[in-house]
Amino acid sequence: MKASEAVQRYFDAAADELDLSADMRTLLSTPEREITVQLPVEMDDGRLVSLIGYRVQHNRARGPMKGGLRYHHEVDLDEVRSLASLMTWKTAVVNIPFGGAKGGVTVDSRVISSREKERITRKFVDEIHELIGPDKDIPAPDMGTDHEVMAWFVNQYNKYAGFNPAVVTGKPVEHYGIPGREEATGRGVGIQTVKALGRLGRKVRGATVAIQGFGNVGSHTAKFLAEAECKVVAISDLSGGYYNPEGLDVMEAVRYAREHHNSLAGFPKAQHITNHDLLELDVTVLIPAALGGVITGENAHRIKASLIIEAANSPTRPEADDILAARGIHILPDILANAGGVTVSYFEWAQNRQFYQWNLNRVRGELDHMLATAFEQVWDLSTERKVTLRTAAFMVGIQRVARATELAGVV
Ligand code: NAD
Repeated sequence: MKASEAVQRYFDAAADELDLSADMRTLLSTPEREITVQLPVEMDDGRLVSLIGYRVQHNRARGPMKGGLRYHHEVDLDEVRSLASLMTWKTAVVNIPFGGAKGGVTVDSRVISSREKERITRKFVDEIHELIGPDKDIPAPDMGTDHEVMAWFVNQYNKYAGFNPAVVTGKPVEHYGIPGREEATGRGVGIQTVKALGRLGRKVRGATVAIQGFGNVGSHTAKFLAEAECKVVAISDLSGGYYNPEGLDVMEAVRYAREHHNSLAGFPKAQHITNHDLLELDVTVLIPAALGGVITGENAHRIKASLIIEAANSPTRPEADDILAARGIHILPDILANAGGVTVSYFEWAQNRQFYQWNLNRVRGELDHMLATAFEQVWDLSTERKVTLRTAAFMVGIQRVARATELAGVV
């Protein structure tokens, strides 16, 4: 099943519950614009390579479109399309005034130099600058891109449009960025994990947690939950999984990864397991925070966690979603669980437009409030309508976008 078909299934389940008309379904599930561009880039060794870049602008009924820019060798139009639609529902669930978009360049970000990455970024801006902007479409970092890429992006965009830091978010703090953006997604995952445990009547203190992926999202999630006195028993990255049933020292793991080129390879005081094993550990909470599609029809029967928090985008395939729902395992869906990042991106955009620097306390306070509100709405709707948390989250998002579309009128 293609990535966009999986999102469509989730959309349809919620649209059925909402009794959405066929015309509105078509309107809301069709992207407004899909852009594919060729990016001829000179590599450091003098070769001229032609890369392909994508930007899918899914929906702008609720505001300028918003979504990350991914540099990864598996990027294709279908993946970008599915992630763009997820952004529409994500911004709507947390009720920030944005629509949804996503972009990507098909390139292996691990093998390109920093100078090559800069040239790719500037070329991409050259190709799409007329179609993006602070009032149209605002990119942000995603896999393979970071605050440095965003700084190049702004610099190149400004050559066409003049001073415009709000054209992207996730910028360096000393270059119009906002404090707290880096931790925001992990913090949001942590806040909602604690809330979900509370709703399930489980103790937070001592609850066992396994986290797949120890990059930006996974490491900040681990830190937050360790501070909340959960017992983080397993973490992982590309080098494999690290398990200690007595609990891992998360801060030691963060320091270790920092000192070893962002890798946990060789991390001591833990048993080495595979990334597959990690998903099937006997824990209270499982948090996939790396790749999409890791929880499948094949392994869903063996998952022992009672709560799954989707920190990554699309980690659960639809067939696994059905199996887990039937087994009574709760899944907090990506469009809500990892929305902390886009929420603080909204604060960054607002800050840039106000020419006023927010401080960390204000960012954290407003983030906590917005996520708590969205979480309660989705959980209550799920209980009231007896639907999964995923269907409830899509229902909240779809309803808001449909209403904005009706109010504006389509003539
Ligand atoms: P990142 O690049 O900082 O970290 C990714 C982590 O996953 C690394 O530890 C890496 O080693 C690990 N990893 C990569 N391939 C793996 C594999 N095959 N098996 C196990 N681990 C593997 O990325 P990130 O920003 O932390 O994003 C992680 C996920 O969260 C992605 O799905 C991303 O789309 C999603 N997400 C990120 C943000 C954000 O603000 N960064 C916001 C929303 C969603």
